[in-house]
Amino acid sequence: MNSVAEACAPAVHTVVVGAGQAGLAAAYYLRQAGVPFVVLEERAAVGEVWASRYDSLRLFSPAWASNLPGLPWPGPVRRYPTHLEAAAYLRQYAAYFQLPVETGQRVTSVQPAPDGFLVRTAAGRSISTRQLIVCTGPYTHPKVPAFSHHLPPATQQLHSSHYQRPAQINGSGPVAVVGSGNSALQIAADLATAGREVYVAFDEKTPAMPNNTAMWVLLLGTHLLQTGRNSVAGRLLRSRPEPVVRQDLQRLRRLPNAHFIGRALEATPAATLQGQRGLTPPLDAVIWATGFGPDYSWLQVPGALGPDGQPHHARGLSPVPGLAFLGLPWLHSRRSALMGGAGPDAAYVVAALLKKT
Ligand SMILES: Cc1cc2nc3c(=O)[nH]c(=O)nc-3n(C[C@H](O)[C@H](O)[C@H](O)COP(=O)(O)OP(=O)(O)OC[C@H]3O[C@@H](n4cnc5c(N)ncnc54)[C@H](O)[C@@H]3O)c2cc1C
Repeated sequence: MNSVAEACAPAVHTVVVGAGQAGLAAAYYLRQAGVPFVVLEERAAVGEVWASRYDSLRLFSPAWASNLPGLPWPGPVRRYPTHLEAAAYLRQYAAYFQLPVETGQRVTSVQPAPDGFLVRTAAGRSISTRQLIVCTGPYTHPKVPAFSHHLPPATQQLHSSHYQRPAQINGSGPVAVVGSGNSALQIAADLATAGREVYVAFDEKTPAMPNNTAMWVLLLGTHLLQTGRNSVAGRLLRSRPEPVVRQDLQRLRRLPNAHFIGRALEATPAATLQGQRGLTPPLDAVIWATGFGPDYSWLQVPGALGPDGQPHHARGLSPVPGLAFLGLPWLHSRRSALMGGAGPDAAYVVAALLKKT
C-alpha cells in the first residue's frame, strides 16, 4: 500500500472484474451465497461488448442453448439472436437480479494485500477484497500477423473487432478478409453482399459443422460440449482448429465475388496478399479476423500468470488463494467460452472459492 487513503480502502468480500456473461454468472452465484460483493465494469453499460460487435452478427448458438443461470432468454427459443439482443439480454439479466455492477470502473491494478488483494480503478477507487474473480473476457487484445506491416499506408487495415459495416471500408475496389473463424466468414459475406470484390484468406483445413437444432441437441445431449479439457476427447478437440458454421461457408463459396485464396502467408508493399492458393490484386482494405490475446498487465499478483502471460489455473481456480478466473476458452470444457457455459463454470468456481474462505 502506498497511501493513507489506500490503507483505508473500503473492504468487500469479493470483487468481480468484468460484467460480461462470465462476470454476471459469477454475480448470480455470489448473490445466492449471500456474499457481499461488487462487479467492476470498465464500459459505460452492461452488454456493451456485444453491442459494439459488427451489425450483421448473429449468435451461432440458439437462444435455448445460451441461457445464463436463473433467467432464460426472452422470445422464441430456437432463434439465433442478434448481437444487440445479446447485449439487451445481459442488461436485462443484471437489472432483473439487481446485481451490484459499477460501470465506468476500469481496473488498472490488482496487488496482493495482507488479507487478499488491493484493487484500483482508473476512476480513482481503491477496494480491498478477500477474493477476486477475473472475468475480463478472452477477447481483449486484437492480434494481427506481423506481416501486416508490409502493406502500404494507403491500404486500410482494420481488426474484426473494429469492423461494423461495409460502409466503413474505403474505396470500391477489392478487399481481403483474413481469418478462419466464423467472424471472417460473416464479415466476408457482409462485404460481398454489399457488392465488394472479396478475397478470403481462409485456411482450407478448417473443419466445418452444420449448425441447427439437431446438432445442438446432439452436442449437449452427448455431453461433447461439456467434455473436460484434459479428458481424451477434450485433448483431441483442443488439438484441432475450431470448426466454422458449414452453412456460412457454403453461402460464401456460392457468392461470385468471393474468392478463396487459402491461408494468408504474406502481405506486400504492392498492397497484395499472398495466400496458400493464390495472390490478390492490389487491395483497398484488409480486415484481420485473426483473433485476440488476453491482457493481464494490470494483474500484478505473483503466481497468478505463467511465463506466457496466461492465467495459471485448474478449472478456473488459481494457486493464489482467493483468486479465480472465468470465461476463458477451455477453462473447463469447450462450452466454457460460450454463453451457455458461463453458468456451470461460475457455479463451480464460486462454490470452490467460498469453501476455502
Ligand atoms: C464475433 C463473436 C461471436 C461470438 N458468438 C458467440 C455465440 O454465438 N454464442 C456463444 O455462446 N458465444 C459466442 N461468442 C463467444 C463468447 O460468448 C463471447 O466472446 C463473450 O463475450 C465472452 O464473455 P466474457 O464474459 O468471458 O467476456 P466479455 O463479454 O468480453 O466481458 C468481459 C467484460 O469485462 C470488461 N473488462 C475488461 N477488462 C476490464 C478491466 N480491466 N476492468 C473492468 N472491466 C473490464 C469488459 O468491458 C467486458 O464487459 C462470440 C464471440 C465473438 C468474438
